[in-house]
Amino acid sequence: MKTRFAPSPTGFLHIGNIYSAYQCQDWARKNHAKLILRIEDIDHTRCRPPFSQAIITDLTWLGFTWDEETLYQQSRKLAYQQALQKLKNLELIYPCTCTRAQIKKTLENHQKTYPYADPYQGTCRENKHSHATQNVAWRLNIHKAMQHINKPLYWYDYLGKKHPVHAQEYGDVILARKDIGTSYHLAVVIDDAFQQITHVIRGQDLESFTGIHRILQALLDLPSLSYTHHGLLYAPNDEKWSKQDKAPSIQKWRSQGWDAAHIRHYIDSLGSRHEH
Ligand code: GLU
Repeated sequence: MKTRFAPSPTGFLHIGNIYSAYQCQDWARKNHAKLILRIEDIDHTRCRPPFSQAIITDLTWLGFTWDEETLYQQSRKLAYQQALQKLKNLELIYPCTCTRAQIKKTLENHQKTYPYADPYQGTCRENKHSHATQNVAWRLNIHKAMQHINKPLYWYDYLGKKHPVHAQEYGDVILARKDIGTSYHLAVVIDDAFQQITHVIRGQDLESFTGIHRILQALLDLPSLSYTHHGLLYAPNDEKWSKQDKAPSIQKWRSQGWDAAHIRHYIDSLGSRHEH
């Protein structure tokens, strides 16, 4: 069994991230499973190498160790391209040239008729004359994708509870952004399979995406995993600490003289909550 902690280096690690890392570590220890670190740095517009380095320094200072070499998603672009190509060959993705402003305008002007609860109106899906393949985003045609899968999908949590996938909640999600050539959804699914992850332990803020991850696994013939979504940490004043800008960074706590054991003790004393 294997799990992973997969931070995005868009800033310094904060106490909410550390809580998540401890959840992964505790689970791995309890189950004699492997624990690995993956740096999810596909988005060059938001991720910075110094943050990757700082994350590793902080985790090492806190005493984390990893059972495999750290994987950087920047090194995995070819695998993401191959997966996209596979979906292109199946004619399940289409190029989209719409800008955010255009999508907003279309939404204001038209009533939705498509059965998927997507803020995207499908302008490019319907445009059979566009042959653009450069400088475009690639969207999943969710309707076709579900026809292709042709059976109800589920994901399972650590307790074995079955969660149905509601494809209509997703709409034509972007699988490759124009600027980075891939997306969180595609990269996370490909790399969880590549690294042979069996159990994903991550925050409840990501739970709504698990269905789309399950859909991608089914389309790409990848194994399904067990997912646990832990509650989010709250500050003593009841403010949610999942927000990077509000939570104190570990570096700050360290500079104020806290040691790793104190940080762990403090996190344990806070507890987390699920939002419904
Ligand atoms: N990189 C994601 C984040 O920092 C987490 C991805 C995941 O655990 O699936 O929010």
